[in-house]
Amino acid sequence: AKVLVTGANGFIAAWIVRTLLESGYTVRGTVRSASKGEHLKALFASFKERFEVVTVDDITKDGAFDEAVKGIDLVEHTASPFRLNATEPDELIVPAVQGTVGILESIKKHGTSVKRVVITSSSAAITIPSTEPVTYDESSWNNPAIQKVKELGAAAGPGPIYLASKTLAEKAAWEFVEKNKSSISWDLVTLNPPYVYGPPIHEVTSLKELNTSMDGFYKAVVEGAQDAAALASNSGSWIDVRDIAKAHVLAGEKAEAGGQRIIVSAGAYYWQDIVDVANSITPAPLPNLVKGNPGATKGKQVVIQYDASKLGRVLGLKPRPLEDTVRDILIMFAGFKGKD
Ligand code: NDP
Repeated sequence: AKVLVTGANGFIAAWIVRTLLESGYTVRGTVRSASKGEHLKALFASFKERFEVVTVDDITKDGAFDEAVKGIDLVEHTASPFRLNATEPDELIVPAVQGTVGILESIKKHGTSVKRVVITSSSAAITIPSTEPVTYDESSWNNPAIQKVKELGAAAGPGPIYLASKTLAEKAAWEFVEKNKSSISWDLVTLNPPYVYGPPIHEVTSLKELNTSMDGFYKAVVEGAQDAAALASNSGSWIDVRDIAKAHVLAGEKAEAGGQRIIVSAGAYYWQDIVDVANSITPAPLPNLVKGNPGATKGKQVVIQYDASKLGRVLGLKPRPLEDTVRDILIMFAGFKGKD
């Protein structure tokens, strides 16, 4: 089968492409300029009979994906900005929403062989901020983020703008399916991961220019961006990049995934937990890691958690433990050959 992966040069997408190729699929990846495809072509040289890169320079243009979807059986749409520095809402919301609706329109017109579309949504589209302990499942929608950006515009700030962009994009996808259900021959799966960590295989020119989630990891664990108090109070949930990639492949294969949103999370953490795991690995892949206050968050409950039971039930995926993720990241950092 032939799979289209959009934004193929991204952190998550490069792992999706690799997992697909290793599973025997033929893959067409889209990038915004030919030069962004060079690293991928080299990385997947051993699969060159089954891997091609095409350029879609502006995903917000009408018909941008018309050519790319031809002859495709499965679409994995990941291209969407994940930046926490937007100065106005449209910077993120326009490519997130128009990119999503645009590819669905292209599939409707030209993707006659497409049977399934998998979209990389996010826990951002699910999670409503809370100071009380809460466990979210796939029934939750982050409507407050949309409301906040609607009311405040740019003043909502870069975080809420990103959250709104992902919520609006996923809503637009489900609305498209509902509106067009009598005329389309494919179904939709959205995957909703929290923070994605793991060893990058996409083009990384400097450890100071990692993708947003890995930048947060590098700053916290290597650079010391958070003091001990922050490490013990800032929390999140995570999934390994290789597991979210595998989830994208399984979401394309499992019949029962059709029509579902699926939270893809391995568990919740305080940053101190990650720092403690990093310091427990022997032999130490990287010296002089942040220490914080060792053990300070042991057994402490994270306020916002996810019920990720659907991941096992529908996709049959058991995420790898935090130790594996952290070890492999540190090994990658230690062996990094770039600007710094
Ligand atoms: P990356 O920044 O590494 O990849 C993003 C990809 O999207 C790149 O290919 C990028 O292309 C493309 N892209 C970004 N903005 C645009 C735009 N305006 N027009 C066209 N293409 C664009 O991030 P990730 O791999 O982390 O993100 C991939 C997806 O996963 C996103 O949808 C993100 O929201 C989602 N996600 C990520 C999480 C994480 O923790 N990493 C968590 C939850 C969801 P280019 O290189 O040309 O900019």
